[in-house]
Amino acid sequence: MAKTIRAKAVPIQPGLFGPDYDRKSRLLPLIDEQKDISYYAAPAKNVLNPPETTGMDFWSLNPYTGCAFGCTYCYARYAHRYVMERASDARRMEDPLAEKYAQMPPWLAFERNIFVKTNAPELLSRALRHGSDKHRQLLGGQAILIGSATDPYQPAERRFRVTRGVLEVLAMHPGLRIVIITKSPLITRDVDLLARISRHSTLSVHISLITLDRELARKLEPRSPTPESRIRALTRLRAAGIDAGINCMPVLPGITDNPRDLDALVKRVAEAGATYVGACALRLRGSAKQRYLPFIETEFPHLARSYRATYGHGHEAGARYREGLAMFFERTCAKYGVRASSRIRDGDGDDAVPVGGVGADMLQLELLTAT
Ligand code: SF4
Repeated sequence: MAKTIRAKAVPIQPGLFGPDYDRKSRLLPLIDEQKDISYYAAPAKNVLNPPETTGMDFWSLNPYTGCAFGCTYCYARYAHRYVMERASDARRMEDPLAEKYAQMPPWLAFERNIFVKTNAPELLSRALRHGSDKHRQLLGGQAILIGSATDPYQPAERRFRVTRGVLEVLAMHPGLRIVIITKSPLITRDVDLLARISRHSTLSVHISLITLDRELARKLEPRSPTPESRIRALTRLRAAGIDAGINCMPVLPGITDNPRDLDALVKRVAEAGATYVGACALRLRGSAKQRYLPFIETEFPHLARSYRATYGHGHEAGARYREGLAMFFERTCAKYGVRASSRIRDGDGDDAVPVGGVGADMLQLELLTAT
């Protein structure tokens, strides 16, 4: 059995979070502002969420709540709402935050008010205490996914370094299975730590990339790093011997599913050394739907009817579309010698009941792959 290298707690330095930071305070103090984004210290009670509470088959850890990258299709907006409502119920919000929240739709609050889990490394260190139940379960092979509901390398990380603190704790505990999902080349700042973790644990970095088209990416993921910078990050991680691949998720029907473009994407990332490519079609639930469907009406009005028919009363594309997509990726990955990976983030399984087919204008990929 793997042994703990050094199981000491990693202390958080209160000074790092500004003069207003007070661990005992019930308020969520403002600790930084950048342009239109506000950052609040939000020490968590738990940071390692077990599979039972998330309904997914892995543990998840999110150093932040909210995400400044603001992807139009982001499914994680619900998590922010819970925090806001809990904070509001417990009267933990400072007046200016409550005011700001009241003035913007929840989907926008997710992008503009970021909660920093200032004590995440400390909590993780406690949770992984040698011999604890969590430590035993994790040594048994269950994965920890960092970034299931936020990007752990969004701009906040440059300043607050919570993700780095989390990795420092993980580096002390060999024998774990760790997955990191990000869109940001900032992850290469931590190459030293990632390489160290890789020597004792199984580590895989998933870089999200749904298109090579810079302008299209800017429209869909307004504040995310460019596609080229993500591919450069992939190259650097691979050069450091770190397992890294691409999540082409979600594939957006009628927008990013042109087979020629996807073929070029798989080719490009295979050349950059990706160890796998994972893909799945867009799924849309509650708060994500409230943001994405109006966006389609405005930016892609010719697709609005098809999207309404497909996602208006359900959450996923039709079965034929999903099957066509899976076949396409398997074939394309084989062509470029890269492994096609099954999705990790998706807890719904393939047996979900399809709700309606996709419109004719969304069938380009299906037509090419169904032969
Ligand atoms: S990077 Fe991920 S968490 Fe952040 S907005 Fe985009 S999809 Fe959501």
